[in-house]
Amino acid sequence: MSNEEEIAELVSARRQLDERFKQKEMELDEFRKKVYQQAREIETRLANICEHNYTRDNYAYAPLYCRHCFLEKEQVWRLKARSQN
Ligand SMILES: [Zn+2]
Repeated sequence: MSNEEEIAELVSARRQLDERFKQKEMELDEFRKKVYQQAREIETRLANICEHNYTRDNYAYAPLYCRHCFLEKEQVWRLKARSQN
């Protein structure tokens, strides 16, 4: 193989790596969107059906969270407000 041929092959292989990486990133983005959407659906259901009982951990500015469903109080407000629209 001549040097020129080898260079052309290496350049092509290098570009293919970038292409594969881009493809995987797009797949990951899609997967991330689906997971976020499912998580939001689960959290909305929890926000609406749980009889929340809030507590907070023993450190400064610890958020209030529910002992049963583990959602934070502010998160519950947001999810309920959105799901009632
Ligand atoms: Zn709860």
